Amino acid sequence: MIKYSQQYGRLNPLIDGKTVEAEYDKSLPTYDPGLGKVIGEVPVMKKVDEAVAAAASAFDKWSKLPVYERLQYLIRLKVIFEQHLDELSLLIAQNVGKTRQEAYAELRRAVESIDMALAAPHFMAEVRKVMNIARSDPEIDMEVVKEPLGVFAIITPFNFPVMIPMWFIPLAVTLGDTVVLKPSEQDPIPALYMAYLFVKAGYPPGVINVVLGDGSTAEALIKHKDVVGVAFVGSTRVGMQVYSLAATHGKRALVGAGAKNPVVVMPDANLENTVENVATGFFVMAGQRCLAPGNLILVGEAYDKFKKAIVERVKKIRVGYQLLDTTDMGPVISAASKKRISDMIERALNAGARALVDGRGFTPPPEYSEGFYLGPTVLDEVTIDMEIAQEEVFGPVLPILYAKDFDEAVEYANKTRYGNAASIFTSSGKYAREFARRVNAGNIGINMSIAQPTPHFPFGGRKQSFFGVLHAQVDAVDFFTDRKVIMQRWW
Ligand code: NAD
Repeated sequence: MIKYSQQYGRLNPLIDGKTVEAEYDKSLPTYDPGLGKVIGEVPVMKKVDEAVAAAASAFDKWSKLPVYERLQYLIRLKVIFEQHLDELSLLIAQNVGKTRQEAYAELRRAVESIDMALAAPHFMAEVRKVMNIARSDPEIDMEVVKEPLGVFAIITPFNFPVMIPMWFIPLAVTLGDTVVLKPSEQDPIPALYMAYLFVKAGYPPGVINVVLGDGSTAEALIKHKDVVGVAFVGSTRVGMQVYSLAATHGKRALVGAGAKNPVVVMPDANLENTVENVATGFFVMAGQRCLAPGNLILVGEAYDKFKKAIVERVKKIRVGYQLLDTTDMGPVISAASKKRISDMIERALNAGARALVDGRGFTPPPEYSEGFYLGPTVLDEVTIDMEIAQEEVFGPVLPILYAKDFDEAVEYANKTRYGNAASIFTSSGKYAREFARRVNAGNIGINMSIAQPTPHFPFGGRKQSFFGVLHAQVDAVDFFTDRKVIMQRWW
């Protein structure tokens, strides 16, 4: 079992309940982003046959167990998972660059996903039956039951290395499926640790497997003939490829993708609470969340009323090494990310935006000088057609747009290719209601900058933020099961 360390060496996949040596030609480094130091080596697995075979063979027995039997494993997992939150949060913070507090918040949601999956017997019991249904014959009854399907691929992004696998795995396995997880190559250590907690909880070998690698490993998994479906969360670019690859190979797919979430502030919004919520909300996890606010749209008089106070609050955010108690915002995930975000800021300035705060100049203390740090950036005079207003930054940048009235704000809120979340700050029920109705996004927040649904609700997503029909969290019950219609007649 992995332990928190400064150096993890070469990582190994978890297959059939055991750590095994990976077959690979190349490997990738994984970093502590706050130190900018390599802490582990991720083999890029070319073959996933062994993992899929283990999951397929486990499925035979596992799916036949009574759901109450599978539930006992989940109850044990919940106890064990909660006993390991401290170490897991440390691993998440170290590997992603988020603060300890942000890591605990991630784990709270992971635990809530277990809580939701505990209702699996209830979900399985949602059968429909009609007796005496056929006009031609009064002895015919018809019913629909739900059955697990087989081996699912779970492919996840770097920003929530435990919460997102936990959206899917407890639910899938309690419903009777088995899984092969391919975590992000950028920070697979917390996910590996999480998977060993399932082993510790006594799950039979093969029910949960983890393979390591990049997109090529993920593709091999999706294409594998014994994989029945893929739950993917990541960027829109990759999500679209995954959706089409899954379709080509006749697999079901649930694809959560990128975002550009508008936050509208009306002049009547509560000054103090709005400033605090908006100014901090943009910079949680250095902006690396699919629910991170993406555009701040100040409406009419709100522009003068809120802008200065927001900028002042942003300037108070303490950037630093993620494991220090004095840090509010840690680094971004990689040197490549830092460059990509810095380039986007530069292009925004060239397009006419004005920097009220420029985080590119942030210099950490010498011991962290190799880390991937950016301070918060606030850009004013952004217009909706600019790249910075249209594309996901996935970094600590707050673009400010002016809208003359509510209608124009709604127009801007709808004017990107994404539709993950949207928020409004107002004291008017009428505007709040109109906003919820007219904005085409999957998760709507009223007086909150991050509207993150708990697992007993679907995780919404529209337009190019989501591909598929069934969403993550509770909606995935129908993704991980299929309906079978049984007609019967007894003489
Ligand atoms: P990414 O798309 O780069 O990678 C996600 C996963 O896809 C990784 O495991 C990666 O190895 C794998 N992958 C890469 N190429 C692939 C391919 N060709 N085929 C199959 N899999 C492939 O995303 P990221 O940078 O790790 O995460 C950030 C993105 O995730 C952001 O766009 C963010 O908005 C999004 N996200 C969305 C949600 C949501 O619920 N909608 C939640 C969290 C993050």
